[in-house]
Amino acid sequence: MSQLWSPNVRELTPYVPGEQPREKLIKLNTNENPYPPAPGVERVLREFSADHLRRYPDPTSSALREALAQALGTTSANVFAGNGSDEVLALAFQAFFRQDKPLAMPDISYSFYPVYCRMYDIDSQRFALDDQWRVDLDALASDSGGVIFANPNAPTGHGHGREAIAALLDKVTDRVVLVDEAYVDFGGESAVPLVERYPNLLVTGTFSKSRSLAGLRLGYAVGSPELIEGLTRVKDSFNSYPVDALASAIGIAALEDGDYFEATRQAVITTRERTRQRLDDLGFEVLPSQTNFVLASHPKHDAAQLFVGLRERGILVRHFNTETLRDHLRISIGTDDEMDSLIEVLSDLCR
Ligand code: PMP
Repeated sequence: MSQLWSPNVRELTPYVPGEQPREKLIKLNTNENPYPPAPGVERVLREFSADHLRRYPDPTSSALREALAQALGTTSANVFAGNGSDEVLALAFQAFFRQDKPLAMPDISYSFYPVYCRMYDIDSQRFALDDQWRVDLDALASDSGGVIFANPNAPTGHGHGREAIAALLDKVTDRVVLVDEAYVDFGGESAVPLVERYPNLLVTGTFSKSRSLAGLRLGYAVGSPELIEGLTRVKDSFNSYPVDALASAIGIAALEDGDYFEATRQAVITTRERTRQRLDDLGFEVLPSQTNFVLASHPKHDAAQLFVGLRERGILVRHFNTETLRDHLRISIGTDDEMDSLIEVLSDLCR
């Protein structure tokens, strides 16, 4: 630990993302999409002129924000774009959650939220999930400096419907409620239509999952112009260009191809349900999922050993063993062939 670091950085336990192996493995550990990005993305990459990179990008990302607004059924004044939703979340923590009271969040949830709290000196209050592993929205409504949760939640996979989110917003009116919709396209219900009614609602989303663009770093937020301005103020203080020129062009191409989006989204959902059934047949306890992953544990087999056994046979999944999430595997949904290989190895390991 270095004395040169700020006190909050000294105390920071950095977020450790899933391994990005160099060798060829079946990679089911970081919830990437198994299908390539929309064909229009290839076209942009072929035709994009390097000369565009000579100039700074549009400081307001207006074309990308318009394309996003159209895809999401809102207006560009309600949209903010950033370099991955992790960046958008970081800006939101700085812009909205540095309050006198702690930030309310579920436990279990996305492990980056506590990291951001440490980074930005924000206290948090964590609320246990209910007895069916769902985010307890009633608990999150208690007094706080703001509310954040993923919907559907990660790594548990359950998503609340729009009405439940509206009921929370009817109770929480004086602080920001951030709904992280990284996985919503795989069966969740988006809260974006509520943005018009609730000026304190911020919804974040990403191109990393359902748009197959995790390598690009493109994310966004939807909220009232008041919240968009809050994010823009923080962004402007260190870098006024939200998204680079190439990423904007690629993002627009990905949004344009609605049929491809629909087909790959459905393929992931179908494979997920098939995988759940087959894991169930092997004796796993698998939570229902509205995401592109499943969370599973086996009553007779240690998840740590299964993780190692899979790794030895070339399959990478994520092993969770925290105080509130003991001994579970989170398995991203790959292609049908990849999931066949997973099931084959697990059948062997669970024999
Ligand atoms: N929110 C949740 C719940 C996630 O799981 C992730 C991906 N790990 C993100 C946000 C960040 O996604 P990205 O930065 O790739 O947009």
